[in-house]
Amino acid sequence: MSFSKTSKDFANELLLVPRPRNPNKNQKQSIPAVLDLTDATRTIIEQHISLVGLDKHLFAHTIDDQNRAYHMLTTQGLHIPNEIDRDIRSKYSIWHTSSSIVHMKTFAKGQKGRELKRYVRCYQCLCGTDSSQDRRLIPWKDVSCFSWIRLVTTHDENDENTKRLLAIDEISGVLDHSPSCKQIVEMDRDASIPLHPELKAFALSLLYNSIPLTQLRQMCKQWAVQRWGDAQGDNHFRFRLNHHDPSSLYRKVSHERGISPATAAEENSGNAVNLLQIPF
Ligand SMILES: [Zn+2]
Repeated sequence: MSFSKTSKDFANELLLVPRPRNPNKNQKQSIPAVLDLTDATRTIIEQHISLVGLDKHLFAHTIDDQNRAYHMLTTQGLHIPNEIDRDIRSKYSIWHTSSSIVHMKTFAKGQKGRELKRYVRCYQCLCGTDSSQDRRLIPWKDVSCFSWIRLVTTHDENDENTKRLLAIDEISGVLDHSPSCKQIVEMDRDASIPLHPELKAFALSLLYNSIPLTQLRQMCKQWAVQRWGDAQGDNHFRFRLNHHDPSSLYRKVSHERGISPATAAEENSGNAVNLLQIPF
């Protein structure tokens, strides 16, 4: 990844990332077996599925759709190991991870493209389980919250130094927390140290140039390392983006452009479908 890469380069790269196979529409929606649920919570989720179904968001491999996916991911409070740091206030913990190899599309006939890794992660709200032994996490009161999320992402991990998230494919599950869970107030946000203004300006310039949100953190880190070395910050400013920075910067840019970042990805899928029909 280099700073000379334009949004068009990223858009073209995204189109070469294979999409997961379309799910069978007749397939019954089910709760992942890996979740830790009490019988009572399982019954509530089953009722929820039969009444309203699961929240299912599939994202096209376009910069717009990926930005919305990233925004949804971070506002939901999800983290991705080695990519998006865990917000210590987040109630979600990763319950299960599986991965598989997929290949980038290629123009060369009969040849496999670059190897990529696709991860499927299941997250569960810590207010829905009392069996978390992980003492690094904030203990939350178990109120049988039924929220869980299935996240599918595709990564380029060929080179240790340029490992990065390429695409967010799916965010599904029960995205809303139960009413009793919502009543448990999150810890007050720390008065955090602000982002260095020059780094903030650099991050904004990337977004103004339509660089995808998924690449923002890595590119800012590279820029900051060139500027300040390995220091994470000084007494006044941070030299790294925190969990909320990409979304709040994106909100600012979207607001200036008059686009609502909350617009559902599906509403814009018309354009995305056309792009995906470009033959390779
Ligand atoms: Zn919850």
